[in-house]
Amino acid sequence: MSRVFINYRRQDSEGYVGRLYDMLAKRFERSDIFMDVDNIPPGADFVSVLEDAVAACEVFLAVIGPIWATITDAQGRRRLDNSEDFVRRELALALKRKKLVIPILVGHAHMPSLADIPDELAPLLRRNAIEVSHQGFAHDVDRLANVIAEALAHPPETPPEDNTVRLPPPPVLPTLLVANPHKEAQLKAIRADLINATASPLYTIRNQNNYFPVIGEGHPDAHLMLIGAAPGKYEAEQGRPFVGPSGDILDEMLATIQLRRAEVFITNLVLDYPGEKRDPTLSEIAFYGPFLDRLLAIVQPRLIGTLGGFATDYLLQKLDLPEKREKIGQIHGRLIQARLDYGEVNIVPLYHPALVLYKMTQKEPLRRDFAKLKQFI
Ligand code: URA
Repeated sequence: MSRVFINYRRQDSEGYVGRLYDMLAKRFERSDIFMDVDNIPPGADFVSVLEDAVAACEVFLAVIGPIWATITDAQGRRRLDNSEDFVRRELALALKRKKLVIPILVGHAHMPSLADIPDELAPLLRRNAIEVSHQGFAHDVDRLANVIAEALAHPPETPPEDNTVRLPPPPVLPTLLVANPHKEAQLKAIRADLINATASPLYTIRNQNNYFPVIGEGHPDAHLMLIGAAPGKYEAEQGRPFVGPSGDILDEMLATIQLRRAEVFITNLVLDYPGEKRDPTLSEIAFYGPFLDRLLAIVQPRLIGTLGGFATDYLLQKLDLPEKREKIGQIHGRLIQARLDYGEVNIVPLYHPALVLYKMTQKEPLRRDFAKLKQFI
């Protein structure tokens, strides 16, 4: 049985899925990837073949293109409203079986909203999506393949077949299992405010280039918030933080402390791409700082990892802490205790992951600092 199942709508994403399959097939065994056309033998009952394949897979890729939620059948009825629709059935089964379901957004599609999907698919909205763009295809699929490889290397424990009661391992971050619609609404409000913020020094650049603001992503109840400097081009094209080369380093560091992006909240000090590779200016920091303050007040992390000098200086100066004049090279990896409006927080300044791209020798200090960060979670 295949370990990776690709679920998609032909009219919506066939081109992308063909390329996706070809690239994944270079990295994994072809027999490990289930994509209906290739895998159903002639004469087989395809309903049961599909259901067995979903039940057997370890990773379920839900490919979502621009018309995924709206596509209709020959009678003009929305396919998603039909409980017999294959895409819906497979996805519902994967969610019910608690498979690792990864939404893959293609063709500039966005995650559907709760109002767009049947109730049984609602858990999909809590899954962290990966965007696969036309321009960044190879890079995006490479990242996806890393996530799949990681998942296949560490399959979740299968329940015992006998009746022995085994205690579950203690949860590392217990509140992560709780979705928080209230916080999600507040995060959406920040996004809406930013989209309409004509006073932003980066508003024109964003609109002229069709960039997205990058509010941040992750779990709205995360215990750990990571704050970078400002999104780059990759990030602005996808509206997601740390999805370019620095993001690869960040993912690698998180993996060293057994954390996934979906378990933390990742954002930046400046929430729009400045249009070129450069440091944030004072006026940008002055404008976006209050948005970061709002993000902190919503997520209320107990631990904050500031990535690089800009986020570190902003926070230490805002809180008027004794360390505020120290440089990142002096205070990285140090635990700084502070108080925000919502309560006590621990701040750990870290080097920015991009540093490793320029200087490989920085990887080890960064890994050590992440190991320290883990102790404070
Ligand atoms: N660098 C940052 O500081 N933030 C990002 O989101 C990406 C690169």
